[in-house]
Amino acid sequence: MAEIVLKDVCKVFEKDQYAVSNFSLHIRDGEFIVFVGPSGCGKSTTLRMIAGLEEITSGELWIGDRLCNYAEPGERDLSMVFQNYALYPQMSVYDNMAFSLSIRKVPKQEIRQRVHETAEMLGISNLLSRRPAALSGGQKQRVAIGSAILRKPKAFLMDEPLSNLDAKLRTHMRVELASLHHKLGTTTIYVTHDQTEAMTLADRIVVMKAGYIQQVATPVELYNRPTNLFVAGFIGSPSMNFLRGKVKKAGDGAAFLTEGGQVLPLPAALGKTLWPQYDNRTLVLGIRPEDLYAFPARNDRLYAAVQGTVTACESLGHEAILHLETSDGELAARVEPGHGAVEDRSATLFLDMENAHFFDGETEQNILYQWRNDA
Ligand code: ATP
Repeated sequence: MAEIVLKDVCKVFEKDQYAVSNFSLHIRDGEFIVFVGPSGCGKSTTLRMIAGLEEITSGELWIGDRLCNYAEPGERDLSMVFQNYALYPQMSVYDNMAFSLSIRKVPKQEIRQRVHETAEMLGISNLLSRRPAALSGGQKQRVAIGSAILRKPKAFLMDEPLSNLDAKLRTHMRVELASLHHKLGTTTIYVTHDQTEAMTLADRIVVMKAGYIQQVATPVELYNRPTNLFVAGFIGSPSMNFLRGKVKKAGDGAAFLTEGGQVLPLPAALGKTLWPQYDNRTLVLGIRPEDLYAFPARNDRLYAAVQGTVTACESLGHEAILHLETSDGELAARVEPGHGAVEDRSATLFLDMENAHFFDGETEQNILYQWRNDA
């Protein structure tokens, strides 16, 4: 096991085209780190630079106490698990798993013991004599993970390892990966498009956009205190709702006047923080779908009513997602069954203003980031 430290790591594929820019991260020993971000943001390139499959253009990569920029992949003592399993088709499961140990000249007896132990742990002992072609996707991925574990590497690097599996198996393997990590405690860097995987597996998530780190934080922190508009919109499903507008004085307090002409009262403490400091500046109010209600839920909270027309009502059994077309665009609300809303009819949603986020309309930074921390 080992710490992995990246200092100002950059990758340029073509002249002046940065695929990864100034990537700095201190990954603690035993930590489970997940890279997320839209397609092409540099997740795999960063992982491949750590693995040694891609040259580092500038910056430093430390694995344990060794500077590894120029170390061969084999010398880094890392195990990689890919989306497409990378198994040798002509070899049995046993030989696939044993391969990396036999080329390291580990004694046969020890190989046998480690393969059997690992196969037991992953529930694939009955498959050891089969060829990969006779395995299901989930079984193949278990074999690939088994081969990675057997080597007892300093860290696992996983590039979308579950993305070829169907939804049910994916959930199952996700839980298995979590318990495996708990058991082994090996430093893991994991790339995924799947938010649920990121939120449930990670100790910390790294959100990337266009080659730059946007935020590094625990899943809860990322969800509750996104540093900017991009992270706020990227994490969470359905996404956070956004309304543009300005803060205005209203009576003794302040209100948010949206570009669509709605007046949303602000709780006193929030109003004081935003007005007059942000008077006449365009802000973006962000509100998560679960902070919009079909009825004002509690009488100790300040709700702002927003009217519109229900465009869709997706029932998920235990809850429903309501889509409301308003003068500020569409809002999505996660509401309880029995909400009473009907498609194509008008409805009112109640925004829990205590949970509203505010972003600077120009810089897109979360202007309440520090305030929420201090509060
Ligand atoms: P995805 O989620 O789609 O896998 P990603 O976040 O992993 O995307 P990367 O594969 O790291 O993104 O790619 C980052 C950028 O580098 C992209 O703009 C991509 O086109 C570019 N890139 C990746 N590999 C090469 C290469 N070998 N040559 C030139 N450009 C490349």
